[in-house]
Amino acid sequence: MDNAVGIIGGSGLYQLLEHHDSFMMTTPYGDPSSAIQSGVIAGKQVYFIARHGIQHEIPPHKVNYRANIQAFYNLGVRKLIATHAVGSLNPAMVSGDFVLSHQFVNRTWGRQDTFFDGPETVHVSASDPFCEDLRFLAEESLISSKYRFHNEAVMLVIQGPRFNTRAENRIYYHEGNDVISMTGYPEAVLARERGICYMSLGVVTDMACVLNSQDHPDLPTTHEDVVNNFAASVERMTAVLGVVLTKMEPEQCRCACAASLKGAHV
Ligand SMILES: [Zn+2]
Repeated sequence: MDNAVGIIGGSGLYQLLEHHDSFMMTTPYGDPSSAIQSGVIAGKQVYFIARHGIQHEIPPHKVNYRANIQAFYNLGVRKLIATHAVGSLNPAMVSGDFVLSHQFVNRTWGRQDTFFDGPETVHVSASDPFCEDLRFLAEESLISSKYRFHNEAVMLVIQGPRFNTRAENRIYYHEGNDVISMTGYPEAVLARERGICYMSLGVVTDMACVLNSQDHPDLPTTHEDVVNNFAASVERMTAVLGVVLTKMEPEQCRCACAASLKGAHV
């Protein structure tokens, strides 16, 4: 089958699935974050995992990223849409905007970030770590939805679970990062190692902006703001995902994601 679509994100997105069903599964890397929700959207088989568990009991640094990606792979998922609540360092990217990241910078540590721990050694390309085809598809969908969005962004992935200090944000901003996530890494590279197309549909939930101007006051980031702003965006995000899934066709991908292991073995 190998044509299923995966969605990983907040549990508020369950409402997406028509006639959904739920089942447990395990992998050689352990259990995924939640039971798998299975359903149909726009005529396509879709599987959903709640990245932080159903009760949001798994913090970003404790997510079993390998089990989640392996579960999707075993279910035949070859296209994966990851939703992310992101903080913005870029004053042009404001709360409520959608963001399609095209690059990431990894500042996490201690996470299991490869399926190839030896003796099989593999070096996959991460020059373009997000699937370009899916990103263009999402861009088309966002244009038709008329929501504000940014079709390129550098995603800084931090370890969490705390938010950044003001000094860290100043440094990260001047380094050229646009938005901040705690979960984009190693999800993106693990998907790449399994040949799965992976894209990030982010929504800005807080301004970690460092300019401290009248338009962009440098307010502290709070979990309450992030949760409230994400909740406010779930309906729009659901609508966008519906359009993306409607436009998605199996033969559409001309990307190299599926061939990621070609020439990558030592
Ligand atoms: Zn791809």
